[in-house]
Amino acid sequence: MSELFKIGGTKIEPTKIICLGRNYLDHIKETNAPIPTEPVFFVKTPNTLITDNQPIIYPKILYESQENNRVDHEVELAFIMFQTGKNIAARFAFDYIQGYTIFLDMTARNMQISDRNIKLPWYRSKNFDTFGPIGPEIIPCSDIEDPHNLNIQLKVNGELRQKSNTKHMLFKIPEILEYISKFVTLKRGDIIATGTPSGIKPIVPGDIIEASIEKIGKIIHEVILEET
Ligand code: MG
Repeated sequence: MSELFKIGGTKIEPTKIICLGRNYLDHIKETNAPIPTEPVFFVKTPNTLITDNQPIIYPKILYESQENNRVDHEVELAFIMFQTGKNIAARFAFDYIQGYTIFLDMTARNMQISDRNIKLPWYRSKNFDTFGPIGPEIIPCSDIEDPHNLNIQLKVNGELRQKSNTKHMLFKIPEILEYISKFVTLKRGDIIATGTPSGIKPIVPGDIIEASIEKIGKIIHEVILEET
């Protein structure tokens, strides 16, 4: 199942959004997670995608909950698949990539932690509608010489919350693609997000989130409370 979606001037039809977890050492430390020996990945679904300054909707079910009232931002470098592939060798990885963009892996943090503690998947904490802002456009591979040397940052209401560089990624893009495609056929238009650096913090309705990556641009999204 796929849905047509437009990022900047480019139409894509993602069948899935695959996200790396635990891919920056400083973020692994702040979450007290073990350092992975192989890439850790999970899936987000196309209902999460928004772009072009559309608001992030803070779910009422979280807002009104005692235990689950926390939603965090995670800024990530993402890439878009150019062609379908399975068992992709790392050395050919860039032949499979259309380009790069900015992705926000919004996360219902307390729900994620409590689900994880009772050995449930991360699915529901990651897949609320609008929990995947993306954009502002897809920058072709040819315009970015080294995707592993880009400054990446996120501000909330003008305050700097996350600041790093993609060189700190534990698993680099060719390795990530080789690993994921051992298990999953990746389709043209699929989105792969490469993990977040440290500085994850909660957001609240009314916040303005501004995420940027060098050579790609900036996305700005307001957080609003879900209406009933
Ligand atoms: Mg993430």
